[in-house]
Amino acid sequence: MICTTDAIVLKTMKYRESSMIATLLTRDYGKLSVIAKGIRNRPKGGGSVLEPMNYVRVVLYRKPGRELQLMTQCEQLRNFKGLSEDLKRMSVGMAAVELTNLAMGPDEPHREVFDLIVDTLKALNSATGDPENALYYVEIQMLGLLGFRPELRRCVMCEGPLPSSSGAERIQVSLGAHGAVCPSCEDRGHGEMSIPLPALNALAAFQDTPQAEASFRIVLSAGMRTIIESVLRRLVMHHLTGMRPLQSQQVFSVLT
Ligand SMILES: [Zn+2]
Repeated sequence: MICTTDAIVLKTMKYRESSMIATLLTRDYGKLSVIAKGIRNRPKGGGSVLEPMNYVRVVLYRKPGRELQLMTQCEQLRNFKGLSEDLKRMSVGMAAVELTNLAMGPDEPHREVFDLIVDTLKALNSATGDPENALYYVEIQMLGLLGFRPELRRCVMCEGPLPSSSGAERIQVSLGAHGAVCPSCEDRGHGEMSIPLPALNALAAFQDTPQAEASFRIVLSAGMRTIIESVLRRLVMHHLTGMRPLQSQQVFSVLT
């Protein structure tokens, strides 16, 4: 069946003399691997249209269940030039597509995850604040969309209120139960990760933010960033199958 769909390129590799194999997150069919035969020989950039983070429209000759689908056409829908011009934005964008690639299974269409990644790359392309906010945003939103939304506004065990900032300095988070735990439930042995209350509130702010663009308005100290990164990493690694530490983050943290 010949079909046309929009996609974000997650990963690519050269294949033989002139072809490429790419992993795409498509709007209509979920994550797919495609082969683009002879694409590197084509004029006008050829294979450069198939680069990670590119937003493209593809024509596929699609057979359900086939491991590698045949891509016959590919055009760029939007050029995220701002991503390739800034190392930090690029690092966050690459981490976001790598996260998506690891979190999504093949052939499972998920329109909201597709919209999330497109929105995040668009916002990053013209980021006005610290680009890393977009990664915190995409991580916590992805957890929610895939069924692991952490409860951060009330106790995940008893649904009671959490202490206010004047009442406690740290709060327990339960990985298994997906959320924050009040002091009484903590006394009963729930929760396995203790975090400062302001970090919990910042995470809740990223969760409540409706669009990636708005995440740049959340102001964080360097210390708070370190805490939020490690909490999110633990939540993501705990819940999303196939997850491992993001390579692009490690590569770029050496470079930047
Ligand atoms: Zn409780």
